[in-house]
Amino acid sequence: MTADRQVPFYCPYCGEENLRPAGADGGDWECRACARGFSLKFVGVLHPVLPDPALRGRS
Ligand SMILES: [Zn+2]
Repeated sequence: MTADRQVPFYCPYCGEENLRPAGADGGDWECRACARGFSLKFVGVLHPVLPDPALRGRS
């Protein structure tokens, strides 16, 4: 897992790829296809990463 945020590839509303960064602090994007603006925010790690049960006992 990388600490750096990756850029979104598709608009979550219309699915087009015509996204441009917006806002001063990053995380805001605007879609040139549907003219919607949206924000991406990290909210935390939701679940601990557990080893895959299928791989247990194999090493
Ligand atoms: Zn869009």
